[in-house]
Formats: sequence, C-alpha cells, structure tokens
Amino acid sequence: MKILIYAEHREGALRKITFENITLAKQLGVPFEVAVIGSEVGNLQEELGKYGAEKVVFYQNADLATYSPDAYAAVLAEAVKKQGADVLLMGATSTGKDLGPRAASLLNAAMATDCTKVELDGDDLKITRPMYAGKVLANIRLSSAVKVVTVRPNVYSAAEAPATAAVDTESVDAPGFKAMVKEIVSGAQGKLDVTEADIIVSGGRGMKGPENWHLIEGLAELLGAATGASRAAVDAGWRPHDEQVGQTGKTVSPSLYVAVGISGAIQHLAGMSSSKYIVAINKDPDAPIFKLADYGIVADLFDVVPRMIEELKA
Ligand SMILES: Cc1cc2nc3c(=O)[nH]c(=O)nc-3n(C[C@H](O)[C@H](O)[C@H](O)COP(=O)(O)OP(=O)(O)OC[C@H]3O[C@@H](n4cnc5c(N)ncnc54)[C@H](O)[C@@H]3O)c2cc1C
Repeated sequence: MKILIYAEHREGALRKITFENITLAKQLGVPFEVAVIGSEVGNLQEELGKYGAEKVVFYQNADLATYSPDAYAAVLAEAVKKQGADVLLMGATSTGKDLGPRAASLLNAAMATDCTKVELDGDDLKITRPMYAGKVLANIRLSSAVKVVTVRPNVYSAAEAPATAAVDTESVDAPGFKAMVKEIVSGAQGKLDVTEADIIVSGGRGMKGPENWHLIEGLAELLGAATGASRAAVDAGWRPHDEQVGQTGKTVSPSLYVAVGISGAIQHLAGMSSSKYIVAINKDPDAPIFKLADYGIVADLFDVVPRMIEELKA
C-alpha cells in the first residue's frame, strides 16, 4: 500500500491537518509521499520534513497560484496515478470537502469522509467515521482499487519526527478550469479557526445578546482558545457564521470544549461530541448538554464566567 497526502496550504502556510495526516501515515507504517499543488509555494519541504515526510512532490503551474477545485482535483488525480498511490489522504476541512469528492470521481475511487480512526488491517484499511450526526460510529472498508480518505482535524495529534524530505518538482498542465478562487476575504486578523483550535469556548442563546460576548472572549483569551457559537447565536446575528459549531456549521475536535449557555441540541452535539473534554455551564440541570459533558456547572453563567475570568487572571 502507498499513500499520497494532499498538503493543504493557504498563502504559503501549511494547515495543521497536513502534519496530522503525516503522523497518521507514519503510525500506519505505510510508505507515503506528500503532494503540494500551487505556484511558487516556497520551501514547505522543511516544515513537512519536521513531521517525518521523506518525499515531497511539488506540482507547479502559474495558473495554480490560486485554488481552483476542478484544476486542483485533476492535478491531484494525476499525481495519485503517477505516484502509484492506493490511498489519497486529505483533511476533512472545507477544502477537503470540496476537493476530495472531485478527485475521487476522477479516480473512480470510493471515499470515506470525516474519519476519526484509520487503521491497517492486513493490506486493507479499517476506517471509523461518525454517522447520523454522531449518533453511531461506523466501521467501514472501501472496496475500490484507489481509496480517498478525509480525516477529521485534531483527531490525530501532529508529532514531530524529523526527516530530510527529498524534493521533486513536476511542471504540470493546469487543465482548463470552470471555477477559480479570485479572492479570499479573511475574517478578523489572527483569529484562531475553531477547526484548528485545541481549546474552544462557545456561547449560545443563554448569552442573551452580543453585548455579553466579552465574557466568552475574555475566557477564551485567558485559555488561549478560539471562540465558537451555537446556531441560535449565529442566526440571531450575534456571531459570524464561521464560528458556528454543529451539523450545519463546523465539526471540531478540541482537547477542551467549554459550552456556555448552550442547551446541547443534537445538531450542536453533531459538531463537537468528539471533543476530548467537555465542560458545560448552564442554569438548567436538565439541559441535554450535561449528558455529554465531562464536567458540568449548574449555575447562572453571568455569575460563573466572570468568576472564572477573575480566577484565571489571579
Ligand atoms: C437542520 C438543522 C440544522 C442545525 N444545525 C445546527 C448547528 O450546526 N449548530 C447548532 O448549534 N444548532 C443547529 N441547529 C439548531 C439546534 O436545533 C438548536 O436550536 C440550537 O443549537 C440551540 O442553540 P442554543 O443551545 O444556543 O439555544 P437554546 O436551545 O435556546 O439553549 C440556550 C441554553 O442557555 C441556557 N441559559 C439561559 N440563560 C442562562 C444563564 N443565564 N446561565 C446559564 N445558562 C443559561 C438555557 O438553560 C438553555 O439550555 C440546527 C437545527 C436544524 C433543524
């Protein structure tokens, strides 16, 4: 078996999921290569080597400077064929969700998305992925010759394992594409994305309004956390959509998830139930979030959160 890992990068910076997937491939003990697509993307091999990549192939073309789903998928599918890979490994990120199925279709490959465990079973892969909004965990096998697998960010911790990566550069055709990204408008500068954060503090309707979000932000800052929100808070216009956690928002797997004034509707749990530790603050002792929480604080958040902030500052 041979794995090809798609190196996800933006504006010259590699996304954490790429290192996590390298760690996963090393754990599996299967030969792997890393494919970087773009134009003049810089010396990413050094950073990839830090996590154990021994071979990095750059697929370059000036027209690939910005992400285009159909062009990137075509180049990636060619890369899989050229490298003779059996498995294409990517992140279950927005890009992975966009690119993975397109590449799978070009490769006539079966695909497993948002996987939380990938193991080797003989010369096959045994894959675990949540289904039905996280209500069941399915163990699956893919029966096609080439397989496409996207892995949920933060499930595997990236571990440094220094290696010197050999580099190949392939000049590729940028196939005529129908869609390309013209501009990426980033949100608040330096804001940590919930999908990459190790700690998340999320607020819900119990926050009562955007004027109280300084409590979420204050706690998050002291914990080095990203801020998240329930759909109720997003729909009310209190928070931007990129913070929404849940079935129609983002799926997160931090080490610590603090849910403040969030009831724990199934659609919210679908996005955060694989968090390692969950702390819930809610004044209703019967709130469903307490069934999942490792630690529950039954109290008025306007009393407890300021006290937590004071304690952390002390
Ligand atoms: C198709 C579909 C998709 C959906 N996708 C998502 C999704 O992606 N993400 C998502 O979050 N939801 C999603 N929802 C909505 C979901 O069903 C819930 O409506 C939503 O999660 C509720 O948000 P909430 O917990 O903030 O609000 P509520 O359910 O209203 O809960 C507020 C909580 O705050 C507590 N509270 C109030 N005041 C205080 C206080 N002073 N101190 C402490 N606690 C207090 C209350 O006891 C209550 O438990 C979806 C729904 C549908 C139908």
